[in-house]
Parts: sequence; structure tokens; C-alpha cells
Amino acid sequence: MTAQAAETEDLATVIGLEVHVQLETDTKIFCGCSTEPAEEPNANTCPVCLGLPGALPVVNEGAVEAAVRVGKAIDADIPEETTFHRKNYYYPDLPKNFQITQYDAPICADGELEFSVGGERRTVGIRRAHLEEDPGSLQHKGGSIDTADYTLVDYNRAGTPLMEIVTRPDFRSADEVRAFLAKLEEVLEYLGVFDSSRDGSLRVDANLSLVDADDVAADGTVDEAVLEAANRTEVKNISSHRGAEKALAYEETRQKNAIERGRAVEQETRHWDESKGVTLSMRSKEEEKDYRYFREADLPPLRVADWRERLAIPELPDARRERFQAEYGLSEEAASKLTSTKQVADFFEDVAEAFDPDLAATWVADELLGELNYRDMAVTDVADRFDEIERLVELVATDEITAKNARETVLRSMLDDGEGPDEIVEEAGLGKTSGDEVQQAVEAAIEENPDAVADYHDGEDGAINFLVGQVMGKTGGSADPGDVNQLLREELEG
Ligand code: ADP
Ligand code: MG
Ligand code: ZN
Repeated sequence: MTAQAAETEDLATVIGLEVHVQLETDTKIFCGCSTEPAEEPNANTCPVCLGLPGALPVVNEGAVEAAVRVGKAIDADIPEETTFHRKNYYYPDLPKNFQITQYDAPICADGELEFSVGGERRTVGIRRAHLEEDPGSLQHKGGSIDTADYTLVDYNRAGTPLMEIVTRPDFRSADEVRAFLAKLEEVLEYLGVFDSSRDGSLRVDANLSLVDADDVAADGTVDEAVLEAANRTEVKNISSHRGAEKALAYEETRQKNAIERGRAVEQETRHWDESKGVTLSMRSKEEEKDYRYFREADLPPLRVADWRERLAIPELPDARRERFQAEYGLSEEAASKLTSTKQVADFFEDVAEAFDPDLAATWVADELLGELNYRDMAVTDVADRFDEIERLVELVATDEITAKNARETVLRSMLDDGEGPDEIVEEAGLGKTSGDEVQQAVEAAIEENPDAVADYHDGEDGAINFLVGQVMGKTGGSADPGDVNQLLREELEG
């Protein structure tokens, strides 16, 4: 895009992502060190991940299997043979002075991912997804990267398996990026290869450029030559969906403003400053030739030809959502909610089988997720209490407590105080009052309120509600109002 280019309304936004996700394995990608967070810096290290002379890498089969599963999930091509390369550069978090990554034979190529945004289905192409090692991490003391007094280096993270997923520049807005990242995490979690609650488990580099709106074809694609010619910025250091959305919205505005003022957009690498909410220029964009890629001679080519057939993947969110709609008669909205994590979907199916799908949908999708959301809690926070929640549904299903009490008292105290459902029902005296007691209360209410009874016989609608209220009062709210209404009518007519 040249400086004297068009008015900003004639521009279209083009975005492509490089997403780094940590793969969940017990040990690092090229050595046997643990990937569990350690208390002490540099505790999970060995000669390989510290880059000591003579140490040799051995590839972790679990990381390769995870990558193949990701490849299947995004419908990518997996080659017969995949190879590793060295990407050479100096940085204190990289003790070998190179990162082992993949170059011309990545483990996955030409995939895609479908997601929904604003009620519309979108598909974004995935150019490639490759395996590499995470560098160590730096702690800047007394300031940020450019103002710190000094910086500490921790190699615990060095060698954590990463997958870098590179999309085609198919996104047209920051909204789409956010929806895509949410979907990507969903799929990775279904595969059991990713943990979104782990700090820094997803990091995004986001590329954005503006092109002439006329260069966007009717089907939304943009010509390669146009993409190539556009000056794009690459924003680094984004670590959340929300961060990606904000950084890209900022960058879009910044570039539009530059063009409006007749200035050129520089091709450069920028840094997302989360606390200030701005992108800052870091350096002119490095090029591939700067990294002197060459084959990693310490790792032989890896034949993965038959891994794709050998490794199974579970039913993924889209397929499961459609099955839930067909099999349980759920709305698309309810089915989407229930399939957004595998844990919730599995739990729903357990409850649906034990009781009935409608009750399960109400209790899992509406009540449980609603109350969790209200408390800013995640399903993972109550995963070890699914038995208790299922027991609560049972109490409702078997009519031992009213749905109202289950929702407003039992579930809420379960989440707030950590008690089990039976205890709470017992302590709060919520067990439904037995038939006899209700019957007695009905008779007493009729006896004590002759005026209301007369009004009822005169056809006054409010009278029955008044009597129901009296009975509810006598039973401490534990009778079912519908049943009471019925009993009163029988008594009054009989
Ligand atoms: P590089 O080698 O410079 O990193 P790549 O071709 O590997 O470039 O692409 C890196 C990322 O930039 C990809 O996610 C791609 O979709 C995105 N990208 C490519 N062209 C553009 C563009 N004109 N505008 C925005 N993003 C782009
Ligand atoms: Mg790149
Ligand atoms: Zn190690």
C-alpha cells in the first residue's frame, strides 16, 4: 500500500496468524526433563535443554503423536517423512544459539479450520503446522524489557514441545481472529494435547496489512501478488484471545491513520504492550535468510507415513454438536454450549443417560454453566465434583427436592461453600414435605380462611393463589406449588 493510496474506506483488512501452542507431554521434546511447572528456576534442565557441548537430542514420540493428531483434526496433509532444521539466532533464552524447528518438510501442511462468528460459518486455511522447541524464559527485574535493572534467565521452559500453526491470510477482522482462536483451543483440548489454563500455553504473532478493497475477489480471496506487495506488520507477544483482538484492532486503526495522513506503513515487527494497550515498533522485519536455516544433523528424518492411520482422534466439537442436536433434540445453541469442552460434553452424556436428556441439558447447560459463569469459574474447577452434581440432578429427577430449591439453594451453596447436595438438603430442611403434611396444611388453610373459600366458589381467580400461598407458608416453602394447587382444588370441589 503506497502512501498516497485511497481513502481508508476503500481499504480491506488482511490478517494472518502464527499461533504457538504448547503440546501437553510429560517430558520435553528432545530430552527427558519434566514439563511440569517447577518451583525453582532451572530445576527441570539437563545438558540437552541447556545446550551443553556434546549433548544430543532424541525426539519425544508423544510430541510427534500429538502433532499428527492435530494434523488429522485440521485435515492437513502429513508427509511420508518429516525433518528438523536449525534456525540460527542469538538470544539469552536460547542457549544453543539455534532453535530446533522444521522448515521445508513440516509435519502438517495445507489444513483448514472452520469456526462460527456472528452467526456465520467461516473457514480459514492453515498453511502449515510444525513442531519446534520452546526457548527458555526471561524475567525482567525492576522494569519492562527496555527499562529493567537486570534480567534473569530460566531454562525450565526450554525444550517444551511447541506446535507453530501458520494460517493463510484469510482473516478480514479482529473479531474473526478471536473466534478462530477460541475454536482452535476447543479442538486442541478435545484432542487432549493442550491445556489452556497453563500460563503462556498459547502465544500469537499476528500479521496485518491493508489492501485495496478492489483487490479482494468476490469469494473473499486476495491475489498472492497483492498479499506479497502489501506492507504488513507482525505484532508479537500476544498471549490471549482478547489480547489478539485488541492488538489487531489497534494495529488496524494505526495503519489507517498513517495512510490517511499520507504516510507509508513500514514493514516491521511490533511488540504488543498489554498494559498500555498499544503496539510499539521493535525492529524492521527479519527475513528468512537471516536465520541461515540448515538441516539438524543430530536428528535423522522421521518416517511418519503410517502414523496418520495408526492414531485415532476423538469425535470433535462440530461433529459432536451436530450429533447432540440430532440425538437429543437440542437446539443449536444448547448443543454448542454443551460441546464447547470435552469435559462438559462427556458429563452431559453421563447425566442424559442416567436420567433424561432434557433434564440433563437444563442442569448442565443452563444451571451449572450459568452459575459457574456468574462466579467466574470454569468447568475444570468442578470436574472432581461431577458425582455430586449428578446426585443433585437425581434429587430433582426423583422429586425429592423442588427444582427451585435445587437451583437457588443447593447448587449455589455447593459452589460457594463446597458442601455436598445431601448435606445441604438436610441442613436447610429442603426435603420435599411428605404428602401427609401437605394434605394437613391444605385442610388447615381451608379451615382457617372461610372468606377465601367463599371467594373461590364465587369464581374469583385470586382466591386459589391466596390459599396456595397459605399452604406454602405452612410447609416452609418445601411443597410443590403445582401439587398444592391441585390438592386444594380437589379438596374444595370434593
Ligand atoms: P514470513 O516468512 O515473512 O514469516 P510467511 O509467508 O511465513 O511470512 O507468513 C507469515 C504470516 O503472515 C502468515 O500467517 C500469513 O498468513 C501472513 N501474511 C502473509 N501475507 C500477509 C499480508 N499481506 N497481510 C497480512 N498477513 C499476511
Ligand atoms: Mg514466518
Ligand atoms: Zn532437558
